[in-house]
Amino acid sequence: MFMQEYYLPILPTTVIGSYPRPRWLRDIIRRYKKGQIKEKVLKEAYNDAVIAVIKDHEIAGIDIPSDGEQRRDEMVEYFAERIGGFKFYGPVRVWGNAFFNKPAVVDKLEYREPIVVNEFSFLQKVSYSKIVKVTITGPYTIADWSFNEYYSDKEELVYALAEIINREIKELEKAGAKYVQIDEPALPTHEEEVEWAVKAINKALEGIKIKLGMHICYGKYERILPYVDKINVSQFALEFANRQFKDLELLIEYSYNKELGFGVIDVHNRRIESPLEIAEAIRKVLSILPPEKVYINPDCGLKLLPREIARKKMENMVLGTKLVRKELVKAGFDDMIVFK
Ligand SMILES: [Zn+2]
Repeated sequence: MFMQEYYLPILPTTVIGSYPRPRWLRDIIRRYKKGQIKEKVLKEAYNDAVIAVIKDHEIAGIDIPSDGEQRRDEMVEYFAERIGGFKFYGPVRVWGNAFFNKPAVVDKLEYREPIVVNEFSFLQKVSYSKIVKVTITGPYTIADWSFNEYYSDKEELVYALAEIINREIKELEKAGAKYVQIDEPALPTHEEEVEWAVKAINKALEGIKIKLGMHICYGKYERILPYVDKINVSQFALEFANRQFKDLELLIEYSYNKELGFGVIDVHNRRIESPLEIAEAIRKVLSILPPEKVYINPDCGLKLLPREIARKKMENMVLGTKLVRKELVKAGFDDMIVFK
């Protein structure tokens, strides 16, 4: 079958997923939850917010944008609400004064309908870029952040979720998605479970031909780096800036060999990194990995930052990347790579 080839600038820039919601959208959601606004109005507002977010990405010069997860309040809750077999008892306290609407699995899980295909289709329609990133919360993280009141153990639950996520990725593939990122922040948090979790996650990735990536933040990367070659994705997007780039040494230690989404923006810090310091960080990773294997992204979603700061950080990330691209071209590298 003829497959369309896509080209990207060397060191393609992308995002992890989430982006701050415009102030007016937060206001509309609040009013919707109080019953003051019709669902139709809310849906239109979500679409308009995605258009605003994609414009921010375009102005910054991001090669592979996302829709900023504008429709999602929370990464596990959003999926649990749309998969049959979940129930919500109400918010539980997770840390300090933060509450999380922790879902409970109370019945056999059931794939009822596409979960994020509508998000992808709208994003693709309004995007300036042929390739966009769609994020999916991985089966292990959904299970880890839920109560299990139905399956005999956590492993059985993760496998059941993997089947659901596999169907969803297949729906996305059918709808024309080219790049799906599985978010598994919980993966490094229980060392003794990683071995079987990796097998279960691969069930979710079975039979998929489009590009798959995985994003992992939090936790010790030493716990997952030994498994990287066993997980059937071509790219891992990892955080480095928040760890002062110390974890770069781990890439050498574990002979990391896949594509890397290199996190150069600290999302937990409002200080805006300069293009020069971003370029410096990229040069460091290029002393370890060939440039054809490196994508540039923030450490994690930008959601928790004020929008102005998120925007500026993205802009500087692209400016810093462009400085290094120039050096690469001077050194004889092609200025474009094939997206695969
Ligand atoms: Zn993250």
